[in-house]
This record gives sequence, structure tokens and C-alpha cells, in this order.
Amino acid sequence: MDTRTVKKKLGLKDRYAAMTRGLSWETTYQPHDAVFPMDRYEGIKIHDWDAFSDPFRLTVDAYWKYQGEKEKKLYAVIDAFAQTNGQLGVSDVRYLNALKLFIQGVTPLEYYAHRGFSHLGRQFSGDGLRVACQFQSADELRHFQTETHAISHYNKYFNGMHSANHWFDNVWYLSVPKSYFEDALTAGPFEFLTAVSFSFEYVLTNLLFVPFMSGAAHNGDLSTVTFGFSAQSDESRHMTLGIECIKFMLEQDPANLPIVQRWIDKWFWRGYRLMTLVAMMQDYMLPKRVMSWKEAWELYAESAGTALFDDLARFGIKKPMGWEVACEGKDHISHQAWNTFYGYGGAAAFHTWVPGADEMDWLQKKYPDTFLKYYRPRLEHYAERAAQGKRFYNTTLPMLCTTCQIPMLFTEPGNPRWICYRESEHEGETYHFCSDGCKTIFEHEPQKYIQSWLPVHQILQGHCFKPDVDPTVPGFDPLAAVLDYYQMNIGRDNFDIEGSQDARNFADWGAGQNPAEGQL
Ligand code: FE
Ligand code: ZN
Repeated sequence: MDTRTVKKKLGLKDRYAAMTRGLSWETTYQPHDAVFPMDRYEGIKIHDWDAFSDPFRLTVDAYWKYQGEKEKKLYAVIDAFAQTNGQLGVSDVRYLNALKLFIQGVTPLEYYAHRGFSHLGRQFSGDGLRVACQFQSADELRHFQTETHAISHYNKYFNGMHSANHWFDNVWYLSVPKSYFEDALTAGPFEFLTAVSFSFEYVLTNLLFVPFMSGAAHNGDLSTVTFGFSAQSDESRHMTLGIECIKFMLEQDPANLPIVQRWIDKWFWRGYRLMTLVAMMQDYMLPKRVMSWKEAWELYAESAGTALFDDLARFGIKKPMGWEVACEGKDHISHQAWNTFYGYGGAAAFHTWVPGADEMDWLQKKYPDTFLKYYRPRLEHYAERAAQGKRFYNTTLPMLCTTCQIPMLFTEPGNPRWICYRESEHEGETYHFCSDGCKTIFEHEPQKYIQSWLPVHQILQGHCFKPDVDPTVPGFDPLAAVLDYYQMNIGRDNFDIEGSQDARNFADWGAGQNPAEGQL
């Protein structure tokens, strides 16, 4: 009898190669460039697509098996959370507003990332990169779904979450994240990778996920912690894709260097501006604080970023434009952003407040050079006015930066008492910017940014009223008409946390006692 020979199993790397490479074919009845028109027009030169080493090293069957297991556990936690009324265990009703900002402004970005990577999965002519982009596209769709499912539980009990997608498309502060991703989605495929995989996922994502997820844990929000960790385990693959792509472009041809540097400059600055919302969330919207924005910036950007750019120096890459200004901003941006949201608390779909005295003490300790000097007196002034029944609301429309779409709220580098304005002329029109960074980005691609959908301009042009609205009637209240168009429930979704329906319900339910805490 013959001895049965067992075929030697392929190693992980060979198995991956067998399953994912060689899937491509040469075109026959159409020229190759006509089938893949997109990966050349940005000027990036690739000589050897096989040199790209895919950090995912995943086969489709392994991907679905692994993610399916992960998702099963996640939904079990979300289920348990719902059945035990987990929402009652969060630290403080104010915490919910951080979640509102997350579902309004971050979750839709997952869907944009899904679309973007799916597009890239079609457009690159190298099959290794195509496969990696397709996996990430599936990841991002899963993130959108798990976040939506996790937060939909809160939507049953709290205001400010019911129309998140409509708000993302219309509301002023949400055009900041929206425009970031639309700028990336409408760029070429290599720029999209630099914007999303490198600048967002590799350089800045820890600033979003790590403090926010530990913030969720500190504030008793197990549901968010669970989807956060589930997404974070994909994030490490996404980050690797980001760095691999940058290295791949730089190794392929020296002519790629100036193009890549310009993209890194642009997308670092756009990403940094976008992080303003996170900075504010971290310092003002987490009732139990984990670390300050400044500490997070020092840890995840300054020290990790410096090491990263030191490493990339061997390719000729320099630290991105605006790095020093961003590092100076760590002392200011969260305070300046919260001040703006407090003032426009009537026009946002979450609640605002003045931090308590103990919270201001914390901020003062974390920001010894700036909080007492510039920001505490203003907050105390607001609190005083509110106590006299004269709560300050800003009812004028702010000027927006044409590039990042943030209201002009940032100050001059080196002069925190002076708002920073820049402008640029293009074809007889004047455009306004919050910073040198945003002005430089505009001036390189003015044809793109003159098309920006700026929420304030849209309001002033009459595009944010419902069709039956007549702005000429006497006593017309434009803000109320705009909020109606936004589908905000005035008095429920907006204004102060104090006296809100959310706060009253939370107290009536006896929530926020955090029973686990006494035992710690
Ligand atoms: Fe994601
Ligand atoms: Zn700007």
C-alpha cells in the first residue's frame, strides 16, 4: 500500500500571494490606460506595482470569519447594554452631547471612507493595493453600521440624534468634517490615500479614538467603548496601509517626492483643523476627564509625529506645513471652539454649558499658561450673565474659512487676543481664511475651493429655508426658519443643558448614579 503523502501547507505569506496576487489580467480590447485612467493623472510614477507590500495580508474568507466573530461579540454587548438600561449608568447627562457630536460628525465619515476606498479598489492598476483598499472599504462600512447601531440605543432616550444624516449634509459645524472628506473623495486616488490613510488614519486617528474611547470608558459608556475597540483593531491595519503607501510612492520614483510633500502639508493642516472639534469634546464635553487635548497632542502628535517625520526624512520628507502653529495651538483651540459653540448654542443640535468651578480648576491646571489668563474670565462672565437670566447667545452669522469651513475663531499665532484673518483674491472675488495654512491650500487649487458649500453663504443666499417660507413677511425670524429647515426641534435639541428635556429626564430616571463607582 502506498504511503499517503500530505501536501505541504502553504505558509501565510505564500497562501496570501496565491489567493490575492495574479488576480489581475492585461486588458485586450481596450488600452490599459483607458481602463485605469485615474492612477496616472496626479503625476505619481509607479514602476513596479508588485513592490507594494500589502499590510493587510488577508484573504477574503479569513476576513469575514474574523470580522464575523468580532461583530457577534460586539452585538452581544450592545444587546446586554440595551437590556440593562446601560444609558442610565453614564456619568452625567452632559456626556451624551459628546456622543451626539460623534454620531453627527464622525460616523458619516466612516461611510465616506467606505465609498472612497471602494472607488480606489476599482481604480488602482496594481492588484495588491486594490485588494487592500477593498478590505478597508468593507471595514469602513462595518464601522458606520456598528456605530449607528450602538448609538441608536441612545437615540431612543435622548434628543439631538434623530436626524444625524440630514444634519451632516446641512448644518454649519458639520460641514467641517464633511468638507474634509469630500475634498479627499474628489481628489485623485493617491491623494485620497495620503489624506485618509496617512494624514487621518496614521498621523491623527489616535487623537480621535484613544482619548474618546477612554473618555467613554471613564464616563460609563460601555456601548461606545465596545464599538471603539472593535473599530480600533481595524485601525491598526489602516494605519499600516497609510504608512506603506507613503513609502511605496516615495520609493518608486524621486519625482513623487514634491507631490507627496504637498499633499502631506495640505492634509496635515486640514486634519489638524478638523481635530478642533475633538479638542473641544475632550476638554469640555467629557464630564469625567481623561487627559487634556494638550496632553493628547503632546503624546500622539508631538512625540509620535516627530519620530515619524524623523523616519521619513530619509526620503526627503519634511515636517508638514503649519506644524509649529499647530503645536502652539494646543494651548488654545479647545477653549476657542467651546466659546464659539456656547455662543451659537441656539443653532447646534447638542447642548452647551459653562463648566463648573471644579472643572475650570482642572482646565487651569492643565493649561497653566493660557486658561486663567484668556479663557476663564470669559466663561465666568457667561455664568454670571446666565445667573441674571441674560444668557448670551450669538445671533449673527459668522464668517467662515473657505477651506476648512470653521468660523473665524482662531487667533493669530503668538497673539491670542487677536482673531486671525487672511484673504485671497481669485477672479475678482475675495475669499477669507482662518490661517496661513488654509489660505495656502486654497491658492494651490482655487478652482476647487471656490465651489465650497459654505453653510453661512447658503443661508444668506436663501437656500436653507423650507420651500413655503417667505422671508419678506414682517417679523420674519431667519434663525428659526433655518433651524426648521435643519429639522432641529427647537428647545429640545439645542440651547443649554440646564433645564433641557434631556437633563430633566435623566434626573427623573435616577440616572447617573453610576452604582459601580461606589465599589471602586
Ligand atoms: Fe473607520
Ligand atoms: Zn481654515
